[in-house]
Amino acid sequence: MKKKEKNPKKKEAKIVETKKFEKDCPIHGNLKVRGRVFEGRVIKKFHKRVVIEFERMIYVKKYERFAKTKTKLHARLPLCMEKEINIGDLIRIQECRPLSKIIHFAVIKKIKDAETASGNIKK
Ligand SMILES: [Zn+2]
Repeated sequence: MKKKEKNPKKKEAKIVETKKFEKDCPIHGNLKVRGRVFEGRVIKKFHKRVVIEFERMIYVKKYERFAKTKTKLHARLPLCMEKEINIGDLIRIQECRPLSKIIHFAVIKKIKDAETASGNIKK
């Protein structure tokens, strides 16, 4: 009887811990990602949130030419990637359910370091 009582308690404790720690993590958490995928550079970093920016081409009908525009997107930064990702890094984000008024993307992967890609941004 003692053994049976001990085991379920341990399991419950573990589940609670992982849920707290991995909340909003698409890799080991219970946040489902689906929909559009974008790649961009980190321009701002906050607690559990990053802002990425990338360029895209838009066709201007009046001039029959393409114009460059920049898009900024806010994305949820899971705790397990908080130390890994810094300003200037190239990362990949994917759409998820709306997590707040401005966040409906989550970081899924780091592609390049700020140092390896610094030729484009810092100089
Ligand atoms: Zn995680």
